[in-house]
Amino acid sequence: LEEHELMAETEVRAQTCFLDELLKHGLLIDTGVDGLYGRNDTYESACDAIDKLIARIGRDEHAEVMRFPALMSRSYFEDSGYFKNFPHLAGTVHCFCGDESSHRRLIKCSDVGEDWTGQQQSTDVVLTPAACYPVYPTLAKRGLLDTAGALVDVRSDCFRREPSREPTRMQMFRMREYVRAGTAEQVIAFRQIWLDRAENLASSLGLPCAIEIANDPFFGRIGKVQAEGQREQGLKFELLIPVNEGETPTACMSFNYHQDHFGKTWSLRLATGEIAHTACVAFGLERLTLSLFRHHGFVPAEWPEAVRAALWP
Ligand code: AMP
Ligand code: ZN
Repeated sequence: LEEHELMAETEVRAQTCFLDELLKHGLLIDTGVDGLYGRNDTYESACDAIDKLIARIGRDEHAEVMRFPALMSRSYFEDSGYFKNFPHLAGTVHCFCGDESSHRRLIKCSDVGEDWTGQQQSTDVVLTPAACYPVYPTLAKRGLLDTAGALVDVRSDCFRREPSREPTRMQMFRMREYVRAGTAEQVIAFRQIWLDRAENLASSLGLPCAIEIANDPFFGRIGKVQAEGQREQGLKFELLIPVNEGETPTACMSFNYHQDHFGKTWSLRLATGEIAHTACVAFGLERLTLSLFRHHGFVPAEWPEAVRAALWP
């Protein structure tokens, strides 16, 4: 085996080991599907505490709270460009819409173990890929922004088709976000404030971290070019925390400047009538929770006093 192959193998084993520990302690509950877990009370109370800590940090800005389900409008999803840029991650909902004779065909098919899913049809809903997606069309529908722009606090279960035994890479996970719409200056200033706050947040939780330039996982060869462009323009930053053992730390928060992409898509406009710019700050609640268990152990009662005080003031 080449050295990098050995390395990769060790990493996979280490991650699987962390997953096994999480399952053994009952923090995550196996569902029979990689990347899809139930969670126990201990896990939930840590996750909830992180969510509330983020809310306390952002409280002075009086963001408008919006909560959306884990499904969103397929047409919003199509407009957003997500299915073009990340077709490999998207999940769409298909349902049976037939009459009684197609029902009989369906049952026959499944009785003999044949694939029955082809007899389903697409619906007008898809799984929400990122908490902020429903926000932009919602703001746009209200009409012009006022001069202060908009700030929204959003949280949702999000789906991404990336099954993995690496516990930080889930198929369904909770994402909390602050979403800002306004002038380029307003949204860039917002992102900068959260870049600073994020490092404080991580250090108050005793979590080692680094902020780095990043890119989204655009699909295919054209996607490579898009990713490079995103990096060159500094549109995405991530806060990385070593959660899994091994080389690569995990992105636990992201800080995204979309320029006027969503503004143009939904005709979201400033008070002056110009197209708005947008930015979002996303917190991966599962990854942050897992990083606490990784760094402070599986028993929250035994976590450092300062960490407990930050989480449960
Ligand atoms: P992104 O939109 O890719 O920047 O994702 C926002 C945040 O969601 C990331 O910083 C992660 O913390 C979290 N996240 C993304 N993908 C996953 C996943 N597969 N499992 C768990 N958390 C994720
Ligand atoms: Zn977002």
